[in-house]
Amino acid sequence: MVSDLRSAFRASVLLACVIICSSVLCPVGAYLYNNRYAGDQVFRITPSDAEEVQTLKRILGHMKVDLWQPNSATLIKQNATVDVHVKRNSTRGLHARLKLEHMDYRVFISNLQSEIEKQTGYRSSRRRRSESQYDYEVYHSLEEIQRWMFDVNRTHSDLVDMFSIGKSYEGRPLYVLQIGKRSRHQKKAVWIDCGVHAREWIGPAFCQWFVKEAVNSYQYDSVMRRLLNQLSFYIMPVLNVDGYHFSWTTDRFWRKTRSRNHKFHCRGTDANRNWKVKWCEEGASSHPCDDTYCGPFPESEPEVKAVAKFLRKHKKHVKAYISIHAYAQMLLYPYSYKYATIPNFSCVESAAQNAVTALYSAYGVRYRYGPASTTLYVSSGSSIDWAYRNGIPYTFAFELRDTGYFGFLLPESLINPTCTETMRAVKAIASGLLKKCETDKDRFPYI
Ligand SMILES: [Zn+2]
Repeated sequence: MVSDLRSAFRASVLLACVIICSSVLCPVGAYLYNNRYAGDQVFRITPSDAEEVQTLKRILGHMKVDLWQPNSATLIKQNATVDVHVKRNSTRGLHARLKLEHMDYRVFISNLQSEIEKQTGYRSSRRRRSESQYDYEVYHSLEEIQRWMFDVNRTHSDLVDMFSIGKSYEGRPLYVLQIGKRSRHQKKAVWIDCGVHAREWIGPAFCQWFVKEAVNSYQYDSVMRRLLNQLSFYIMPVLNVDGYHFSWTTDRFWRKTRSRNHKFHCRGTDANRNWKVKWCEEGASSHPCDDTYCGPFPESEPEVKAVAKFLRKHKKHVKAYISIHAYAQMLLYPYSYKYATIPNFSCVESAAQNAVTALYSAYGVRYRYGPASTTLYVSSGSSIDWAYRNGIPYTFAFELRDTGYFGFLLPESLINPTCTETMRAVKAIASGLLKKCETDKDRFPYI
């Protein structure tokens, strides 16, 4: 009887393992994502003149490709690199076409499937039992991240609060951690969101790293102690929860949300084109199948709407808005939607300069910085423009490592250095909020 029960128990444990393995994609005895990226390649193409730009747009327009950089074919520019993920059965055709056109290109990743497997390694070996054992140097599933949020909230209840600001399209809670010493006075606050674009996995890894560093170094790091005593940090580790989950389980290169568009068969909206500032103009697409689709209307995505609502409510004390993206190694500030100088340019510019200098001091990694429109490209409906227009004087978007060698497949071995250096940059921005910067207050926030 006992042994019967035992074997029944063993069988059910085995079954549970099989179910867990198939849902979190353990690579044991099977390929990740059912081997769907085998033979796919990533090309880097640099059009050298206006004619080549047009040719490349035409070639890529006729193929079903996944653009990594820039995010849309309309944003292809002269002398700017284009990174494009091409399905296995289209690679030969593209090689031939580019050779025919005498275009400068190389294959960055010759077999995408093996790069994906190198990035994550064996997921089953992770430590994830409790907060003190949590492994910050691996990528985590959404479930693991949410469980970790509860753990860190429980373990560091003196410094951490946790709340939900709403629900995603698919009904997942949108959790935020508030970090800082509690105070009777309303403290200035910093908002940091990660995981706006699903495939940029280093983002959520950074948000988790930030929380870990904040709570662990409070005792011995006087800079961090001062920051946590005087400021509140709102950390949203994964903004686009549905998309992140989908990129984890099904399509590694998914970027958008998972909302439905009933008129079209394509799903999802770009959560960084859905904000109500010059919505769906330059640099955004009104076609639901595009990666930069702006959505059916501003704040159509429940995730964007929830953050916008929270920031509107707290805009009096939120002094900095930081959104973490990848990849390009850049620190961007407004405007994104137009070529113009922001009213408090000198303050924002020097904050950005301090941040990239601090980042460089860790490992000598260089970041470009400047207005998003001139440094990256013009895009409307972005969160930094929206937050700035709503009165938050310091708004930044980070594009973390690297510059395309691994692209969205930044290996887990680079989580530590990437987060360590980014931490210095974010601390520099936050420290700047504690000092006064003389800016033209009469003109701000009339922008
Ligand atoms: Zn992004």
